[in-house]
Amino acid sequence: MTVPHDMYIDGCWVESSGRARIEVVDPATEEVVDSVPHATAEDLDAALDAARRGWTVWRETDAWARSAVLRKTAGLLRERAETLAQVLTEEQGKPLPEARAEAAAAADQFDWYADETRRIYGRVVEGRSSTQRLIVIRQPIGPVAAFSPWNFPALLSARKIAPALAAGCSIVIKPAEEAPRTAMLVVQACAEAGLPPGAVNLVTGDPEQISTHLIGSDIIRKVSITGSVPVGRKIMHLCVGGIKPVTMELGGHSPVLVFADTDIEASAETCARAKFRNNGQVCIAASRYFVHESVVEAFTRRFVEITKSLRVGNGREEGVDIGPLSNRRRLDAAESLVADAVDKGAVVAAGGRRPPELSRGFFYEPTVLCEVDDSMKVMHDEPFCPLAPITSFRNMEDAVAKANATPYGLAAYVFTRETRTAFLASEALEAGMIGVNNLVLAAPELPFGGIKMSGFGREGGSEGVESYSVTKVLNMLL
Ligand code: NAD
Repeated sequence: MTVPHDMYIDGCWVESSGRARIEVVDPATEEVVDSVPHATAEDLDAALDAARRGWTVWRETDAWARSAVLRKTAGLLRERAETLAQVLTEEQGKPLPEARAEAAAAADQFDWYADETRRIYGRVVEGRSSTQRLIVIRQPIGPVAAFSPWNFPALLSARKIAPALAAGCSIVIKPAEEAPRTAMLVVQACAEAGLPPGAVNLVTGDPEQISTHLIGSDIIRKVSITGSVPVGRKIMHLCVGGIKPVTMELGGHSPVLVFADTDIEASAETCARAKFRNNGQVCIAASRYFVHESVVEAFTRRFVEITKSLRVGNGREEGVDIGPLSNRRRLDAAESLVADAVDKGAVVAAGGRRPPELSRGFFYEPTVLCEVDDSMKVMHDEPFCPLAPITSFRNMEDAVAKANATPYGLAAYVFTRETRTAFLASEALEAGMIGVNNLVLAAPELPFGGIKMSGFGREGGSEGVESYSVTKVLNMLL
């Protein structure tokens, strides 16, 4: 099996018509490992035209046939999980075990939507006379432009492609420049599972040019983006002209509330291990820890112990817990957020620097910051890197006020053994998703998404297909 490194347009792997390419860099070594095409306007027009034609075929494909293709895609992704994981680690940096888990999670998306595609229900409403029939149906919205990020390049591409196809839409996807070949492997599996040409297309190149061109086209009827707030804002502006619906899964700054009644040692360990998964480059990563003042010392001690035990290195090496950050921007962000916090009085309890033994690669030590306060950028700017600021609270009211004091609202977490505390805190926290005594929130069967500046619309669950379809009313007099 060959690993693709070209664009996929109208059922073919193609180079850019301008022949220009963009380098793909291994973040662990900073070496160029491959390149992908830099699309021209002509290439983008070809992708749009293919999506228009692909839609006319795919929307006529019945739900059981669509389901079979999605199911087959899931199977191919599972068969190819090791290849996908190797490519993912090479271009994104996460340790191989995490990359393997991501490959499985991408396959799960296709499995879930293989079922959901057969469950797109309409309804019959009672008419107002014996000759009136009122029927509500759902139909595919049309060709989709999707923008997927680099932190989970397999899973988050799958989370856009699978529901769009399930609904009967065609799609043009632009993966992030950092990890494009992982998304290409997902598209390759779709193609080999029997999709008609044009149903899925993948383009690479300059993100601004691609989003402007695709969203500006009359062919595109729906947009989906997972990325940062500034990029989400740009995409939203682009959607205004054509009044295009958009699903936005943007950043977060998730708080964790740790109440005194919890098992402090166990909670600290769970929190520390989850924090540094994918090097903190997770939109729902916990990034502000509020611990009851009576237990903050014990919590921090255990959190720091676990943090110091984690091994940083090339994700391809056995026993590595934390790979490099995926790009230099995140490394710069880690350094500047820590410098700002330390300047303002924070204490570095673990990490706080690039590992001295690793001279190349975007590595940063997993870091715990204590004595943090609201004046520090790390408490407001989404870190998206391995930083864990820990501070305390006095009571529920204080905890909730501190937790909600950001413009973000993606995820929030509560650690408590009291059912009452769990409910009251969960209801008061301003977030689209709440984890109680756990930090694992994403599953294909659950709606995923945020409120406030974390975006709107949901991916996953039955909501996932809905956002790629439109409601049509049939009001019939017989
Ligand atoms: P960034 O804002 O520089 O975004 C870069 C990414 O956005 C690239 O992948 C690029 O392809 C894409 N992009 C940039 N301009 C675009 C445009 N005009 N149209 C379409 N796509 C465009 O951020 P970064 O440094 O790469 O990542 C850090 C931030 O990104 C984090 O703070 C986080 O909020 C966000 N992020 C969020 C998620 C998520 O799962 N919600 C995933 C990855 C990144």
